[in-house]
Amino acid sequence: MLLEVRNLHVHYQKVAALKGISLQVPSGGIVTIIGANGAGKSTTLRSISGLARPSGGEIHFEGERIDTMPAEKIVARGIAHVPEGRRIFPDLTVEENLRIGAFLRKDTAKIERDIEDIFERFPRLKERRTQWARTLSGGEQQMVAIGRALMSGPKLLLLDEPSMGLSPVMVQEMARIVSDIAETGVPVVLVEQNAGLALRLASYAYVLEIGTVAVEGAATDLKTNDHVRRAYLGA
Ligand code: ATP
Repeated sequence: MLLEVRNLHVHYQKVAALKGISLQVPSGGIVTIIGANGAGKSTTLRSISGLARPSGGEIHFEGERIDTMPAEKIVARGIAHVPEGRRIFPDLTVEENLRIGAFLRKDTAKIERDIEDIFERFPRLKERRTQWARTLSGGEQQMVAIGRALMSGPKLLLLDEPSMGLSPVMVQEMARIVSDIAETGVPVVLVEQNAGLALRLASYAYVLEIGTVAVEGAATDLKTNDHVRRAYLGA
């Protein structure tokens, strides 16, 4: 396994956000974490990338324990996190935002090639490479956030609700982008409230309910699971 989360507990002051979750991410494809508001999905990603400190349990990446490392070391190990709400730099251009993603890298020639790869992957960004990021649409800003994460040359990409607030057409475009990233060799952990979309894209899924894993299994199985259908797929 590329990533293993074992019996993870996270508290915010006295509130338990995660109460002993375990999950595994193989070295290819998409694993999704679905669940209602406040179930602990974002907290799970924040723990993996070192932004939230576990109060118990362990996280291993490529066999190495990472839950005690500072966030910048975890980035350097190859985990890139696109947080909810994107957090791009509004007063920098599209291209400047992308270059920030490469701040830990020294391979300048490869950085230039990767920038061009990103523009090939996101033609909308290429047309707007010198435009202020704040002038982009929500979907374009999400592309910048994902592109910036890819510029770190990650071995694993954590995506927190990439479809949030996007138009139906842009949601489909984002789905295509996420599938494409996984197919071209970067495994993805996808957090989504849109369970239908997530189960369509992922091969394996975890359903979080108030800080615990309520159900897990192959995405195709969860699509026909009665509880999942009633609670998350509006059946
Ligand atoms: P959402 O989709 O609404 O972000 P989520 O499944 O990602 O939901 P989390 O954001 O991980 O859930 O939150 C899990 C629990 O932890 C919630 O009860 C939330 O109120 C609480 N929580 C999250 N961040 C903090 C914080 N910084 N301080 C205190 N409590 C927090």
